[in-house]
Amino acid sequence: MEAQTTSHKHIPVWPALISCKCPRCRVGKVYEHGAYHLFDNKMLLQCKHCGFVYEKEPGYFYAAMYVGYAFVVAELVTSGVAIGVLTGSQNPWLYVIVMLSLVTLLSPFNYRYSRMLLLYFLTPGIRYRQELS
Ligand SMILES: [Zn+2]
Repeated sequence: MEAQTTSHKHIPVWPALISCKCPRCRVGKVYEHGAYHLFDNKMLLQCKHCGFVYEKEPGYFYAAMYVGYAFVVAELVTSGVAIGVLTGSQNPWLYVIVMLSLVTLLSPFNYRYSRMLLLYFLTPGIRYRQELS
């Protein structure tokens, strides 16, 4: 009796996460379009490759708001320190404009990857199944 898993190649976690692939098979897409596709940044309901339903229960993705909050805090602190170090300015409007612009520009990234981190690392029941890839 031969193992069926030898015909399925292992897909590493980080390339799959960065390219927003399904956490269970790492083949199917989670989003239909790219992060900065205008007017359509919605998740698919389920994986087209393995059938995995992304929203485990109603309100499941509310937890991604906490991850997104951590992203925004990290971006604000990093940009505030960078502005202070690079310009040495004491003008608060420079900080406000640059920091809010940065957070606004990165909001599609925050939305997308907060959900991906929730799916890949913060949900105990979701495991990679190599036989599905
Ligand atoms: Zn899948």
